[in-house]
Amino acid sequence: MAYDFDLFVIGAGSGGVRAARFAAGFGAKVAVAESRYLGGTCVNVGCVPKKLLVYGAHVADELEQAAGFGWTLEEGHFDWGTLIANKNREIERLNGIYRNLLVNSGVTLLQGHARLTGANEVEVEGQRYTAEHILIATGGWPQVPDIPGKELAITSNEALYLKDLPRRVLVVGGGYIAVEFAGIFQGLGSATTLLYRGDLFLRGFDGSVRTHLKEELEKRGLDLQFNADIQRIDKLEDGSLKATLKDGRELVTDCVFYATGRRPMLDNLGLENTGVELDTRGYIRVDQQYQTTAPSILAIGDVIGRVQLTPVALAEGMAVARRLFKPEQYRPVDYQNIPTAVFSQPPIGTVGLTEEQALEAGHKVQVFESRFRAMKLTLTDIQEKTLMKLVVDAETDKVLGCHMVGPDAGEIIQGLGIALKAGATKQQFDETIGVHPTAAEEFVTMRTATR
Ligand SMILES: Cc1cc2nc3c(=O)[nH]c(=O)nc-3n(C[C@H](O)[C@H](O)[C@H](O)COP(=O)(O)OP(=O)(O)OC[C@H]3O[C@@H](n4cnc5c(N)ncnc54)[C@H](O)[C@@H]3O)c2cc1C
Repeated sequence: MAYDFDLFVIGAGSGGVRAARFAAGFGAKVAVAESRYLGGTCVNVGCVPKKLLVYGAHVADELEQAAGFGWTLEEGHFDWGTLIANKNREIERLNGIYRNLLVNSGVTLLQGHARLTGANEVEVEGQRYTAEHILIATGGWPQVPDIPGKELAITSNEALYLKDLPRRVLVVGGGYIAVEFAGIFQGLGSATTLLYRGDLFLRGFDGSVRTHLKEELEKRGLDLQFNADIQRIDKLEDGSLKATLKDGRELVTDCVFYATGRRPMLDNLGLENTGVELDTRGYIRVDQQYQTTAPSILAIGDVIGRVQLTPVALAEGMAVARRLFKPEQYRPVDYQNIPTAVFSQPPIGTVGLTEEQALEAGHKVQVFESRFRAMKLTLTDIQEKTLMKLVVDAETDKVLGCHMVGPDAGEIIQGLGIALKAGATKQQFDETIGVHPTAAEEFVTMRTATR
């Protein structure tokens, strides 16, 4: 049977665009349907705009440190509207770049919601298209728990487009998005509370990292409330919001921001017309090759709920394009040792196993840990400490994990990701000459195991 396309991609986000472009580059006839925005979550309401706002918040740190270096500054003034307008302009520029990338690689771009009408058929804006392979790359969507007043809360989608910077913000959640946005609001001047129902935020990160960040955020005046959860939200007469907690306390604020998780985006996708099944968590079930339970349909990225990061979606998109249209270049995605950052203030950089994971996996663990005040702060009154930690297998000397909390952690951890992928030992770390004077050199100069 002759199909309209070799590959029909639903969703022009990180994974979809990568798969479409490379498949077209390998000679396939490809279409992409996008209902909302080119570049997906990452470009429009995720990594990119968030990082721009993190940069904006970080300027406050630089201003605070300036006096120590002899700078006298007149009282600064921050304008949220300017930051958001400039951010929006940059996002529009990136949308254009994504459009050109697709069109120039020969991909047919269809604007509109795509709905599966069969295992080889998709409908967009009333028009039906057939394809030999269909790739679902529809990403995820923020989820707000079903509590009275939930419509008064915002999520990361709206936070990036707020008209005004709220004077008081209540951020709810314990994942990296909650921590990052709490840092943005706090850095830009909002009185910020971070509320999380567990004992300590950032579950799954190394224990030392979690406690270190908690201490540093408290030093900065962020109001951290753990073991707390909202029961209901009400609007008060003066326009402010009252959050009633399950323990009966009442917090009055101007903005309640939920970052309590994301769900796969499956709305009106037409899965019922195909044999595509979901896993127990509600994500699309795929095998090692991203094939769903309907053989002609594949799925990648956040919608399969494996590792919800842009570089992972990109790698999965690449793997699908290669496997279908350039099998001689196919390499499976390596989910081990994925380096990642949390752009909190100060940021986290991490790769490999946490101390807890290494112990649980049965390794005999040696830990090297260092806490120090970064050189840049020695001329200031700021008492922030940087944390660096290596988790080493005591028997093989292999470095299992590198963890950091401190300035530029994300930049530093990328290189260490290569070292871990190459299977570096602690001895090789020790034999690596440091770059002096930097904070990063501490990773190759920690000589005495702390435990
Ligand atoms: C606030 C926030 C911050 C983040 N920060 C980072 C970070 O710093 N680093 C990092 O690596 N990751 C980060 N992420 C995660 C990252 O954005 C995602 O992992 C990544 O975008 C997933 O890519 P994807 O291709 O699976 O889906 P998406 O990028 O979400 O793309 C899916 C696309 O499909 C479209 N779509 C959905 N349904 C349909 C349909 N039926 N028809 C047509 N189109 C459809 C959507 O409009 C969207 O454009 C962040 C996420 C958020 C929310």
